[in-house]
Amino acid sequence: WFDRARFIPPDAIFALTAQYLADTSPYKVNLGQGTYRDKNGSPWVLPSVNKSRELLSSQGLAHEYLPIVGLTEFRKEAARLALGDELFAKKQKQLATCQSLSGTGALHLAGLLLRACKTPLPKIYVPEPTWSNHHQVFSSLGFQCESFRYYSPETRDVDIDSYYATLKSAEPNSVVIIHACAHNPTGCDPSKEQWRELARLFKERQLFPLFDAAYLGFNSGNVDSDAFAIRWFIEKTGLEAGVCLSFAKNMGLYGERVGCFLLATNTEQAAVNTQSMLEMLQRSEVSNPPAYGAKIANTILSSTTLRQAWYDDLITMSDRIRSMRKALYDKLVATGAPGSWEHLIRQSGMFGFLGLSPSVVLRLREQYHIYMADNSRISIAGLNDGNVDDYTRKIVLGTET
Ligand code: PMP
Repeated sequence: WFDRARFIPPDAIFALTAQYLADTSPYKVNLGQGTYRDKNGSPWVLPSVNKSRELLSSQGLAHEYLPIVGLTEFRKEAARLALGDELFAKKQKQLATCQSLSGTGALHLAGLLLRACKTPLPKIYVPEPTWSNHHQVFSSLGFQCESFRYYSPETRDVDIDSYYATLKSAEPNSVVIIHACAHNPTGCDPSKEQWRELARLFKERQLFPLFDAAYLGFNSGNVDSDAFAIRWFIEKTGLEAGVCLSFAKNMGLYGERVGCFLLATNTEQAAVNTQSMLEMLQRSEVSNPPAYGAKIANTILSSTTLRQAWYDDLITMSDRIRSMRKALYDKLVATGAPGSWEHLIRQSGMFGFLGLSPSVVLRLREQYHIYMADNSRISIAGLNDGNVDDYTRKIVLGTET
């Protein structure tokens, strides 16, 4: 049966991590994978998460199944987080929500639901560049994905005219994937004014906005600012919209797979019906989502004290990333690295999109043991006071050679 199975090359970022782990150099640095590191370069368990875990174990943790669509209280809190209190109160009865296997699982559930509800199958517009898994998640479900130019390498910023033009000529009833904030990999988001114009065009063309919200609060340190686009689209356009929430980065719950898919519809009946479909789709895929991570997240979101502690943690993470971004920029400029580096401090979020050629990226990897994605995206969180000087010096050497 399987003689003709194709060999699929490993995922590039996970393959890079494997290469990094196999490198025996004591000077190696991994800036490939987007996972937060503290100032010593170690993984960080958020203090709010630690408190939540202590509380959960003091209450005694049973290991019962969750309901099929997940922990009820968690789904509600996740939706309230994304929409904010006011909009949540207004839309509550028109929402369908389903706990998911982190952000990836939320995107997958969104795809399953779209496929089950919409014929013919809608086209999925995907920004270029984007998180590589977007194409895979949707094409594996049978969707046709079409890339559009999101980023201009010339201005090193969002190519907003190309974005507008894409929407104006998009096939009606198509889906467009939107990075809610902290665009991965470019770190470039539309301005508030541009978001408003984008929302207007979505409405004009009757497109379905599917928000990938993997970095809410992690970007600026403030969930409300990071959720601006989601809330504007839902409140001001009256369009139905999907939001794929991940708690991997903003709560550091990477491996626990905590996420939620949220669908904002326009009628209570549509919400009831899509909720029932999500339940059926989830049942046939995972039966019940994992409980522990959702309980950790819910304990934080539903307690005023723990939620405040989490907000403080978001500031700790986003401030450290911002200060390392600035340190890298200052050092590159001070060392006279060829080219301009202004784009680095204009970008936001976890990543720095350096704009180096693939040959320089390869040279940095092979000669200097610096690992970054092939498109020269680096995880800024991998930098700290102890390695940023050395890292900058190597970039300068690698760029000059
Ligand atoms: N979307 C984007 C843009 C991401 O960068 C990521 C994580 N790298 C995800 C979704 C999903 O991650 P997870 O499934 O771990 O929540």
